Amino acid sequence: MMKIFKYLKKYTFLIIIAITFVVFQGLTNLYLPDLMSDIVNSGVVRGNVDYIVNVGLKMLLVTLLNVAAAIISTYFAAKVAMLLGKDLRSMVFTRVMNFSLHEIDKFGTSTLITRNTNDITQIQTVIFMILRLVSLAPVISIGGTIMAVSKSPKLSTVLLVAIPVMSLAVYLIAKYTMPLFRSMQKKLDTLNRILRENLTGVRVIRAFAKTKYEKKRFENANEDLTQTALKVNRIFALVFPLIMLIMNFTIIFLIWYGAVEVDKSALQVGDIMAVMQYVLQIMFSFIMISMIFIFLPRASASAERVYEVINSKTSIKDPEKPMKPLGNGKIEFKNVTFYYEQAKEPALKDISFESKPGEFIGIIGSSGSGKSTLANLLLRFYDVTDGEILIDGVDIRKLSQKELREMISLVPSRPVIFSGTIEENVRIGKKDATEEEIVEALKIAQAWEFVSKLPEGIKTHVSQGGTNLSGGQKQRLAIARGIIGRKNIYIFDDSFSALDFKTDSKVRMALREKLKNSTVFVISLRAATIMNSDKIIVLDKGQIVGLGTHKQLMKTSEVYREIVFSQLSKEEIA
Ligand code: ADP
Ligand code: MG
Repeated sequence: MMKIFKYLKKYTFLIIIAITFVVFQGLTNLYLPDLMSDIVNSGVVRGNVDYIVNVGLKMLLVTLLNVAAAIISTYFAAKVAMLLGKDLRSMVFTRVMNFSLHEIDKFGTSTLITRNTNDITQIQTVIFMILRLVSLAPVISIGGTIMAVSKSPKLSTVLLVAIPVMSLAVYLIAKYTMPLFRSMQKKLDTLNRILRENLTGVRVIRAFAKTKYEKKRFENANEDLTQTALKVNRIFALVFPLIMLIMNFTIIFLIWYGAVEVDKSALQVGDIMAVMQYVLQIMFSFIMISMIFIFLPRASASAERVYEVINSKTSIKDPEKPMKPLGNGKIEFKNVTFYYEQAKEPALKDISFESKPGEFIGIIGSSGSGKSTLANLLLRFYDVTDGEILIDGVDIRKLSQKELREMISLVPSRPVIFSGTIEENVRIGKKDATEEEIVEALKIAQAWEFVSKLPEGIKTHVSQGGTNLSGGQKQRLAIARGIIGRKNIYIFDDSFSALDFKTDSKVRMALREKLKNSTVFVISLRAATIMNSDKIIVLDKGQIVGLGTHKQLMKTSEVYREIVFSQLSKEEIA
């Protein structure tokens, strides 16, 4: 929590205004019972109507001031809390945008969402409470004690019992609810994760008739959260009536003991009433403090979670003085080994190969053999564990990430479609693309044949995630987006898998023509897709087990031969 406070520094001025008005409000709170006791003592008891009206008007004025101070301080406290929330949210967002996939893997998507929404709300709430209540409580409890003692030291002795008892109550509340609130936060994360998985995987869940199972899973998490929340509420249900009981006993004592004193003419009636008010105010401020103890642990757990994001170092950083890539995209992998976080086996092991611009390189291997990992490393989504990757002789870690990625176009294995029109989706590949260029890219990707038949053509709206398109259509749009800009290196990660063989080969023919000066990687599970490449890399369990042309590999690589024979007929192989 402390760490978050430093972001409040720039709002010092607003905070000072808020606290000033809170203190002012506290002082008017303390002044009112004093005026009231005057009315009772000098007005009511002596039947002096003028005096009553006079002081009554004064009370009214003080009350108005009190209300005004409350409104102004609330306004500024809320403003500070909201501005802080805004700052934190944008800090978290910027940080996450700069995360490498390594950090995204580490945190997980759902917790990043919870952290940027619910956790920050918790922090806002508690900052507001601190400004409004915590600064009011000391003024009231200290000022109230002084005022009460000045009215009647004897009656005020009740505070000697009431304050320790209230403190104990506050301590007990804090002790038993803090851990519960902490665990509630975690349970909310779990709930969000399950909900998210269900929303993104809704088709699979229905198709496999897993709705019941998922419902159960959600209900369990929901129940878990509810039980913890109920526990917290049970504690409150017990504690608050207890506090009320203490308060009421205090009042009874004051009235009884005060009556005895009045009887002895040692005290005036108005003073009893004033002391009673002060004692109540003091006790209320203890309840306020206990409220803070309830919200603070929760918010500080949230603050830690938010701070963890803001403060996390991005593992992939730009060098101080980035070098410029000179050349047109000669790639060299030198003994590259890579482990995913916490993985025991390397996803890639001792990978070495070279490629020149103008080459078509096929990468084939069973699923899980490390093909996508290879692409991720080339784009520096992750850093190699060992070895190096050079582009035009320069280690990619010496380039700026922006420049590196501007050289490369990746069509990922799962096509990502954003909500918007088809045109907008393709334009992501090249901001200033003309309509002709977009149509050309769609034609090369063999997407034009279906786009042109749509009622609104390239202006047709696609929904988020492209749910109103088929898998093959999405892939073709992703291909069009990937090829529209001029790049040195193109990577098609399994981008043809949802296309039928005929479309697949049409796309590849068009690509060869369009991208003939660039290095093109085609990753595939299908031998037919990569058979005609200039060079084929055969991956198996993260290692290169074959490198060469189709003809060479048919003689040298057992793994390649197996793949080919299992997929193609005799005529196709020749
Ligand atoms: P392919 O693309 O050939 O199917 P991948 O490169 O995606 O294979 O995966 C290679 C291996 O790395 C697999 O064993 C997979 O389980 C593992 N892997 C892939 N992505 C991650 C990740 N983000 N975190 C941990 N392990 C991963
Ligand atoms: Mg893959």
